[in-house]
Amino acid sequence: VPELPEVETVRRGLEASVVGRTITGVTVTGKRSVRRQSPALLRARLRGRRVERAHRKGKYLALGLDDGSTLVVHLGMSGQLLHVADRSVALAPHTHVVIRLDDGSELRFVDPRTFGEMFVTPAAGDDGLPPELGALGVDPLADGLTSRRLASLLAGRRTPLKSALMNQELIAGIGNIYADEILFRARLRPDRPAGSLDEPETRRLASAIRRTLAEAVEARGSTLRDARYRDLAGEAGSFQLRHAVYGREGERCRRCPGTVTRRRIGGRSAFFCEGCQF
Ligand SMILES: [Zn+2]
Repeated sequence: VPELPEVETVRRGLEASVVGRTITGVTVTGKRSVRRQSPALLRARLRGRRVERAHRKGKYLALGLDDGSTLVVHLGMSGQLLHVADRSVALAPHTHVVIRLDDGSELRFVDPRTFGEMFVTPAAGDDGLPPELGALGVDPLADGLTSRRLASLLAGRRTPLKSALMNQELIAGIGNIYADEILFRARLRPDRPAGSLDEPETRRLASAIRRTLAEAVEARGSTLRDARYRDLAGEAGSFQLRHAVYGREGERCRRCPGTVTRRRIGGRSAFFCEGCQF
């Protein structure tokens, strides 16, 4: 599932190869990929528009267009956004939307599980983001996340720490993989009540959030064994090689003599070390 680092990697790709291009045509074949509006409306709103900016909030991409509208893309569980320079290259299976650009290239939305979506919304606020994304919480990289801010977000919450980190209305962009990696780096158990952290623990967590996500962006995200996540050019990321706990159940902890365990927490499985996470 693409999380903040994967979506940020795609955003950077869009900035490099799609910003500045004009959309010459759009084909929508998948019914679920465009569901907030009719494919005809999406096509009409996109055709002839120039892409001026590539924003991101949490796991959402927001492409600012030259008439002030915004193309919002969410990759969902398995979505890929691919930029293909040569449009004679065959479409990958499960390609649901193709956006043609004026340099002969194409932006292709591939999504086998169809949880992803795209839509065009007329307005955008001063931050370049449409009101549809207004409910999202702090983006740890774009907005920054101080330990004071984090403390106020977690205060009084009894939900497990891992669930709070994944709550998109508190902090936008963290999912199952990075929550586990962040909590390992912060030496905190995923099942701690979110509101139970003291000041040094909150500082450690805020720093682990920023550091882990920044490192993962540097590594161009994580591509798991299902090979589902790909960047805009179709390349895999490499942060999976640095995963300390995610997917390492039964393996030796990288920090202490303990073993990585897996437990169901807040309805999701969590990987952590009982030996060095408290
Ligand atoms: Zn350990």
